[in-house]
Amino acid sequence: MNLGNCPRCGKLFANNFRDICPSCIKEIEQEYEKCLKFLREEKMATIQEVSEATGVSIKQITKFIKEGRITVADNPNMMYPCEVCGVLIRQNNMCDSCRTRLTRDFAGAAREGLGNEQDGTADRKGSGAYGAVDKFRN
Ligand SMILES: [Zn+2]
Ligand SMILES: [Zn+2]
Repeated sequence: MNLGNCPRCGKLFANNFRDICPSCIKEIEQEYEKCLKFLREEKMATIQEVSEATGVSIKQITKFIKEGRITVADNPNMMYPCEVCGVLIRQNNMCDSCRTRLTRDFAGAAREGLGNEQDGTADRKGSGAYGAVDKFRN
C-alpha cells in the first residue's frame, strides 16, 4: 500500500487510482454536481459566474472542462483561462497566440544563447580546471 500526501488537502492517504484522497474526491464530485446543476439552468453563464454561484474555484472548473466532464458546447460562454497568459479560451491548454509563440520559441531555441552577452557578467575563468585534472594523470 502506498501512502502519499493529498495534493489538495495535504492529508496522508493510501494512494488510489486517483491521486487525491477519498474525501477530496467526494468534495470534487459535489462541486461537479453543483456546477452541472447551475449550468443546466444558466446556459449563458461564464466561468466566473459559475465559480461565484457555486463557490467552486475557477481552477477546478477548468479541470472539469479539460477532463471533458463539463462540455463547453452546451454553454457558449463557458471558457477557461489560457495556462500561459490567462486569456479565455475554449479548447487546448493555451490560446492561439501563446501556442504559436511557444512553437516559434522552441524552433529558435537552438539559435538563442549566442546573442545574450552584452551585460559583461559572463565568467570565463574556466581554464584552471583543465590543468588540475592533468596533475592526476600518471
Ligand atoms: Zn484530500
Ligand atoms: Zn495565452
